[in-house]
Amino acid sequence: MAKGTIGVTTENIFPVIKKFLYSDHEIFLRELVSNAVDATQKLRTLSSFGEFKGELGTLDVRVKVDKDAGTLTVSDCGIGMDADDIEKYINQIAFSGAEEFLAKYKDTANAIIGHFGLGFYSAFMVAKKVVINSLSYKEGAEPVRWECDGSPEYSMEKGDRTTRGTDIILYIDDDSKEFLEQARIDTLLRKYCRFLPVPVISGKEQEWKDGAMVDTDRDKVINATEPQWMKKPSELTDDDYRAFYHELYPGQDDPLFWIHLNVDYPFTLTGILFFPKIKNNFEVTKNRIQLYSNQVYVTDSVEGVVPEFMMLLQGVIDSPDIPLNVSRSYLQSDSAVKKISTYITKKVSSRLEELFKADRKEFEAKWPDIRIFIEYGMLTDEKFCDAAMKFTLLEDTDHKFFTLDEYKTLVEPSQTDKDGEIIYLYTTDPVAQYNYIKAANDRGYNVLLMDGQLDTHFVGLLEHKLEKTRLVRVDSDVVDKLIRKENERSVDLTPTQRNILTTLFSSQTPKVDKAMFVVSFEALAPTDMPIVITQNEYMRRMKDMAALQPGMNFYGEMPDSYTLAVNTSNPLVERLRDEATAALADKIKPLEDKIEADNAAIEALRQGAKDGKLDAEGEQRSNELQDAVAKSRDEQETVIKTYAASQPVVRQLIDLALLGNGLLRGKDLSAFIDRSVSLIRL
Ligand code: ADP
Repeated sequence: MAKGTIGVTTENIFPVIKKFLYSDHEIFLRELVSNAVDATQKLRTLSSFGEFKGELGTLDVRVKVDKDAGTLTVSDCGIGMDADDIEKYINQIAFSGAEEFLAKYKDTANAIIGHFGLGFYSAFMVAKKVVINSLSYKEGAEPVRWECDGSPEYSMEKGDRTTRGTDIILYIDDDSKEFLEQARIDTLLRKYCRFLPVPVISGKEQEWKDGAMVDTDRDKVINATEPQWMKKPSELTDDDYRAFYHELYPGQDDPLFWIHLNVDYPFTLTGILFFPKIKNNFEVTKNRIQLYSNQVYVTDSVEGVVPEFMMLLQGVIDSPDIPLNVSRSYLQSDSAVKKISTYITKKVSSRLEELFKADRKEFEAKWPDIRIFIEYGMLTDEKFCDAAMKFTLLEDTDHKFFTLDEYKTLVEPSQTDKDGEIIYLYTTDPVAQYNYIKAANDRGYNVLLMDGQLDTHFVGLLEHKLEKTRLVRVDSDVVDKLIRKENERSVDLTPTQRNILTTLFSSQTPKVDKAMFVVSFEALAPTDMPIVITQNEYMRRMKDMAALQPGMNFYGEMPDSYTLAVNTSNPLVERLRDEATAALADKIKPLEDKIEADNAAIEALRQGAKDGKLDAEGEQRSNELQDAVAKSRDEQETVIKTYAASQPVVRQLIDLALLGNGLLRGKDLSAFIDRSVSLIRL
């Protein structure tokens, strides 16, 4: 029997291995089964080259739990190892590998993708003793038994295995007893080994007998050795893809479509990505893309490997070229990974374009489901955005779809403003903004539907990407001013009329929670509404963006500011103007004249002052004049306010406009109803 010490500076490795990746001890099973599968595949390769001439026999990997003995055994019929191999691969190489690995990644351990490459020694995360029983495939090889109790010392002696292959026997540690439960082992095997290329057998199939589940004598095979993504796309039907999808994510709706990835140069990558029908956010976080390396499951957190927007996709990516024993931050700068990520992005966009070209109707039908994905992609990935400009769709309020080019052609003739900018009108809520949409449509304008989750951002992106194009929400101005043309009507009011009307309307505007109103005058068409409430595009966008971003409370807390645009061409407004002017001009005019005279006197005082500074007497006179102006203004206001209060029609028109915007509520709404009834004359 040989005894030895493993490596040179290994004293501190075992405790580290044990503590290492505390939460992920389970990966030891993946490592051991992978090794067993590798040994089996190697034998197959040797046999195909004629270097191994014996019988291959049934090649499978068996995982056996023995609760009484406290052992978990992974057995294979692969190439096996002789004493030299163990010396070379286990005692030396693997160990120095592990040591190097630990030294390098001790601190970033948890960031390492799937903690891959820990290898054979990961067994010591859960075992107090590990035994290798092996017989090499080589002719005349001696069986060998290696044993190590987790200290750097091992023993090696002649073994008793009589058939080719290897048993790795783990004496499970007291604190890892869970790995002696068949159910736990099966769960892990299904997670990590579901698609391994060699059958993995764990226990027996069970059946229902006399009121209990009992073992049959049929072996329970855990994996499908030839997963769909390893096959050629030409070998698969649509049903095969769907079936595979449901195997990966049980209980989901059929996927919308899929992309079969298959490259072998300059990197190797296979996989199938599915576009899911997303019903809720929970599914997005739960059913994620799974990353495999040569059919071994690694992880379902693929951040860094695929562009962020692809996280909404599902399916499998299998690539041995993705470095897995590195930290995530390193991963993103890895050139192979960059190439892979670029490749996937390209594949996805070209597949979308293909679908769009092949069957536009079908593409439009699926648009509501894929829209969020495409918009997200365009917002976060420059390259994808450029590609997607060809097939991203805009939907109008009549639910017609347009490509960006088509839409431009449609609206350019009628929606170009006097500065040559094309104005795309949009609505974020076709029900609430119905009046504005109708007004725009009546004017011959088209209105886009931008009511998706990402549209606040998407509107900005379109503006950035499309030349000489601006997006304007349909309620951001009165219809005449949404798209400014040369021949704008001008407001025809005398200063006195303007003065009277401003107070007339502002004094009758009710206080609305979190809203602010400013009265303005617009000469719209006589048939347009007497009052239109609009919301400034810029301010509204700032608020919308603030709502989506933490830390922008300043904008979020501000009240919404609306413009109460009074249509001076509307006959009702004209009548109010004339009646008010007739009733008030006599009182208002002298006050206006006085204000003007007082202001002129203040100005004259300033002009006459030496070095622009008033002396004490001048200062006092100026203050008196200013007080007089303020007083006149107050008087004016009172006069107009008193008059306004006696004109229920003013309030009625304002309320109608508020009502049209869902801003009339509670007490104000009920007052409006009462007033409406009283205004209806029989
Ligand atoms: P890795 O698998 O990354 O090379 P491991 O520490 O898991 O590292 O294994 C080291 C080496 O030990 C393997 O490369 C292989 O040569 C040998 N080995 C491990 N398990 C087996 C096995 N079941 N059968 C044959 N050889 C094995």
